[in-house]
Parts: sequence; C-alpha cells; structure tokens
Amino acid sequence: MADCSHLDAVELLDLPETVAGCEECLATGSQWVHLRMCQTCGHIGCCDNSPGRHATAHHAGSGHPIIRSAEPGEQWSWCYEDELMFRLRPS
Ligand SMILES: [Zn+2]
Ligand SMILES: [Zn+2]
Ligand SMILES: [Zn+2]
Repeated sequence: MADCSHLDAVELLDLPETVAGCEECLATGSQWVHLRMCQTCGHIGCCDNSPGRHATAHHAGSGHPIIRSAEPGEQWSWCYEDELMFRLRPS
C-alpha cells in the first residue's frame, strides 16, 4: 500500500450500482470526459480532462482527500494531498 496518511477519510470503497454522471454537470447540462467518486461522501464529479473538473472542485471545497475512478473496470484511487495513486481493493 502506498504511503497515504488519509485512509481514515475513506468511507466508501465501491461505486454505487448506478452512476448517473457528474452531479454538477448534470445540473448545468455540461459534458464530462471521465467520472470520479469521492471516497468520503460518494460525490460523483468529473475528471481534470473535463471542462468542469468537478472532482477536483469537490476536493477543494470539501477537503475530502481521496477519490477513485468511477469508470467501468477501473479500481484506482488518488489522494489529492499526497498526489499518490493506489488501489484500496484488489480487483
Ligand atoms: Zn493521502
Ligand atoms: Zn462535472
Ligand atoms: Zn466528498
């Protein structure tokens, strides 16, 4: 496991059964590229290649440190504080 000191903030390992899309983009009718899920509160936001960058905006606004990919088949997590990529669950 990577040297992330924020694992206490992780409340959610798995994605919800259905991911509708980036919450902010759906609200504003914007488009996204990839989806990320906050592993503290479950917020779904879009990646930094998306115009809105709502996953990063959520981190900035909430302080929640760790996201994971919400793309099918992708298991990786990312800690904004440590700038570390790791897996919390073997696939
Ligand atoms: Zn960390
Ligand atoms: Zn978005
Ligand atoms: Zn969150």
